Amino acid sequence: MEPMDLFGLKSLLICALIFVPLEHMLALRTQQKIFRKGIGTDVIYAVVNGAFLKICIILMAAAAMGVSASLVPEKVTMTVSGQATWLQVVEIIIVADLGVYASHRAFHAIPALWRFHAIHHGIEELDWMVSFRAHPVDQIITKAVSLLPVFFLGFSSEAITVYFIIATGHALFLHSNVRVNFGPLKWVIASPQFHHWHHADQRDAYDKNFASHLAVIDALFGTFHIPGSRMPEKYGVDEPIPTDYIGQHGYPFVRGTQQGRNTGDAVVKPTPEEVARR
Ligand SMILES: [Zn+2]
Ligand SMILES: [Zn+2]
Repeated sequence: MEPMDLFGLKSLLICALIFVPLEHMLALRTQQKIFRKGIGTDVIYAVVNGAFLKICIILMAAAAMGVSASLVPEKVTMTVSGQATWLQVVEIIIVADLGVYASHRAFHAIPALWRFHAIHHGIEELDWMVSFRAHPVDQIITKAVSLLPVFFLGFSSEAITVYFIIATGHALFLHSNVRVNFGPLKWVIASPQFHHWHHADQRDAYDKNFASHLAVIDALFGTFHIPGSRMPEKYGVDEPIPTDYIGQHGYPFVRGTQQGRNTGDAVVKPTPEEVARR
């Protein structure tokens, strides 16, 4: 990484040059604007939180490699880093995505964690910029669980760099406002349709599709949900996520906020009869 690109402005510009035209060509929701509600907040996430996350990942890598040097036999790390780069990249994707799956599922299942993750689910229009919107606690835990084993095992820095490029591109693509048909590959590789259903504010889709690269992990663990060729009707959560950057960072720490996804029936809107009875 170039020192000047800590804030990722150049990368962000390159991503915009790829994803804005792509969303235009393959648009899922044609009425959705590029400068949709909350886009300014997401730019701050991309630049400020992106820089902070980069620093955290560099520190994580240094710590993990230090520990690895004294714990993991050199034979192992030499064997791992001696493999062909493409093979290492495939292995990193599998190792890291099992970590993403486990931590992401925990973020949905444990109420105290959900409050952090709810920030990512708070958005009601999906596009590529949404991938940057996540609470730092959410991002750091997810990166630690998914990347520490990768750093620990001694994969080459070349393979790790290629993985980061693929991971970023894939995350942006998953959130894009696009309609793409993956055919039977939808069972193996995470598609925009797969991740859009993860963001659906529809009960049958809650707590499904946790993987970030390999949909097959969800298929294996019984959390895969893609109903035919349909796309969700609406995205978001049934809890009042603040719309501003600072408010979103404080949200998990504010007492008394409801936990939409995890308290079961709490999110079911009462019928008019039930309201009348109260
Ligand atoms: Zn989620
Ligand atoms: Zn997402």
